[in-house]
Amino acid sequence: MKDDTTIVVAGRAPHDNLGVVTPPVSHTSTILRPSYARLKELNQLRETTDQPLVLYGRAGHPTALAFEEAMAALEGGFRAMAYPSGLAAITSALFTFLEAGDHILISDAVYGPCRRFADDVLSKFGVEVTYYDPLIGAGIGELMRERTRIVYTEAPASQTFEMQDIPAIAEVAHRRGALVAMDNTWATPLYFKPLEHGVDISILAATKYIVGHSDAMMGVVTTRREHFMALQETARRLGQSVGPDDVYLAQRGLRTLSVRLRRHGETGLKLAEWLRGRPEVKQVLHPALPDDPGHALWRRDFTGAAGLFAVLLQPTSETALAAMLDGMELFGMGYSWGGYESLMVPGHPQRFRTVRPYREEGQLLRIHAGLEDADDLIADLKAGLARRQAAG
Ligand SMILES: *Cc1c(COP(=O)(O)O)cnc(C)c1O
Repeated sequence: MKDDTTIVVAGRAPHDNLGVVTPPVSHTSTILRPSYARLKELNQLRETTDQPLVLYGRAGHPTALAFEEAMAALEGGFRAMAYPSGLAAITSALFTFLEAGDHILISDAVYGPCRRFADDVLSKFGVEVTYYDPLIGAGIGELMRERTRIVYTEAPASQTFEMQDIPAIAEVAHRRGALVAMDNTWATPLYFKPLEHGVDISILAATKYIVGHSDAMMGVVTTRREHFMALQETARRLGQSVGPDDVYLAQRGLRTLSVRLRRHGETGLKLAEWLRGRPEVKQVLHPALPDDPGHALWRRDFTGAAGLFAVLLQPTSETALAAMLDGMELFGMGYSWGGYESLMVPGHPQRFRTVRPYREEGQLLRIHAGLEDADDLIADLKAGLARRQAAG
């Protein structure tokens, strides 16, 4: 089955529910057992089986299981776990596979809150954290230690959009007995399948493109069979669970992911190309642009581009930047991305980086291309750049 079909049919069983097309929203905490025998059986099964069970609102309810089934099918994994946010998916996955005394290697260009979790929480539990140059590729081997348990990757990088050579990193990591985790929020499993490229722990902030409408938070982790039980057990021990309404919205978003993502990607490239030709622009950071440093890796491994990229503007005053941002009509100023509406926020990678410092002069803006008409968006950008020049 091709992905476009999978996202329509997976995780649905209409005839188990009177023919209703979408999975029902199960508002639940208690799940009743029909008999004492079944109660005993479920208590035993929950410790032994790796098959989905409907047990309790926190430990597996039908709406969550339907979404997880669909995500696992799309990722090509054994099963998937849904979490109440992308960050919860990241932290729960890391708690699962790390223990005191272990060492983790994390990309220096990683999503900021993941870095704060590693620095403030993992270190408190006795896990050693080392950041590495996102462009390191197979050179990761030189940083690996006896107790390196996870190599954590993300491509393209948050804010700066560097690509990573995931297969090369995975090859070395596996040879040295480490697992590879990847934050694949940008591409989604439609444009890059982590598990097919050597990744063991595929992580997604479904809040972004899967939900797709800026109206719910959700995270997903997918693994192969050998890692799934541990992942599920940690989620249960930590009390991670998703609300039925939010996970319903995530499964609904998934059905249209392919058409939305294609449009986000096309519009994003149009904006990127237009910006590249402007005198106010120093650089456009977008791996699908042929002259981007990450383009070769993107072409080799990815099958499409999302609508999120960054633009580095020539330095001006902060007042000029404010004049641009405050007057935008279509680009909202807010965090997160992946919804139908366009967004623009300043980025400050120099505040985080420690291994590969970000030293570019100028103003970095992260742009999320929404589903509006591309020409209208370009007109908004053009007016914004003019305001910035005038206030310069
Ligand atoms: C937003 C984001 C997350 C976290 O997702 P939340 O649902 O906001 O917790 C993780 N990784 C990346 C790359 C993101 O952009």
